[in-house]
Amino acid sequence: MCAGPVREWVDLGRQPVSNAFLMPEEVDSETFFRLAVGICADCTMVQQLEPMPTDNMFRPDYPYRSSTSAGLCSHFEEVAHLLRDTELTGVDDLVVEIGSNDGIMLRRLSAAGVRHLGVDPSAGAAAAAAASGVRVRVDFFDERSAAEILATDGPAKVIFSANTVSHVADIDTVFRGVDRLLTADGIFVFEDRYVSDIVEYAYFDQIYDEHFYLFAVRSVDAMVARLGFELVDVERIPIHGGSVRYTVARPGSRERRPSVARMVDEEARYGIGEHETYLRFGRQIERIRTDLVALLTDLRDAGRRVVGYGATSKSATVTNYCGIGPDLVPFICDTTPEKQGRLSPGAHIPVRPYAAFSDPYPDYALLLAWNHAEEIMAKERQFVEQGGRWILYAPHVRIV
Ligand SMILES: [Zn+2]
Repeated sequence: MCAGPVREWVDLGRQPVSNAFLMPEEVDSETFFRLAVGICADCTMVQQLEPMPTDNMFRPDYPYRSSTSAGLCSHFEEVAHLLRDTELTGVDDLVVEIGSNDGIMLRRLSAAGVRHLGVDPSAGAAAAAAASGVRVRVDFFDERSAAEILATDGPAKVIFSANTVSHVADIDTVFRGVDRLLTADGIFVFEDRYVSDIVEYAYFDQIYDEHFYLFAVRSVDAMVARLGFELVDVERIPIHGGSVRYTVARPGSRERRPSVARMVDEEARYGIGEHETYLRFGRQIERIRTDLVALLTDLRDAGRRVVGYGATSKSATVTNYCGIGPDLVPFICDTTPEKQGRLSPGAHIPVRPYAAFSDPYPDYALLLAWNHAEEIMAKERQFVEQGGRWILYAPHVRIV
């Protein structure tokens, strides 16, 4: 990102494409890569060392749908309100969302009559968004598509993106597109997982192919400055196990809020950017691997039934890093139809419909969608009332 020296931080081994759920006949042609991340000694940017080509990841049948989570629905409803109340105040203001998925955020602005356009390379997700009244362009967001949008729709007052910017290895193309499309006084707002939380809570499964960069405030501040913008505000948000909302503007067009300097200071005090912090993280996740495999092996040997809950992208990292296959977790249940009847990437654990979870309830459920733990545990009260227990693994392995 800044030409500083990048030092390897953690190697999670041979990993598959995290969202590539397989039909049994596809097992032999599966794509793998080495999942390792490094940190820049100068700007603290954490990045993967061997990128997976994006056309392998965001295919037309890309199965992730944001709206399956009630928690995310309410989060993006708040975002839509916030943008409408503070930025999209003119009748003709345009908002463009990069990676609009199934329209979870834009459909609320669409319903309010706000001029909008979603840009998303996955045709399936875009079709779901269009069905809810959202205008979508099936495309990657870059300088080329931004120029075309500018020609047809005019400049955007707000460009928004959630959990997408860090996916693009060649991030310059995204910012050149923003530069093309954004009004002089507009803002580019993006949300992403926070590396400080990942390190603090050993959320190693936040590292998977799609998350090419793991952002800190200091690293984003340096990055956007190099790309011709200014980071003017940051805010911590409690989704996906800890995220940050970054507000970026053209230099000098907005007042820089004290939140930026405050969080950069916090990161320095916490040791983000210091090698020892990452060595500690490496030791902690090795311990998780040992403990989790031991627990699952003991439960299996004792004749207990364990199922996985949530065939998330994160679960690809956990199962493949720990070497957990169908012998330890016979199946994973998931509500997404596109994943059901398939095998999980790399580990080849069958994915079954959500109904399989309670038919009958297992003794233990490995919570692979832990970023929605509160919502899931409230929904599955009956599982616990019947004697079921959750297995969690970060920041340490435990049964609750
Ligand atoms: Zn750097």
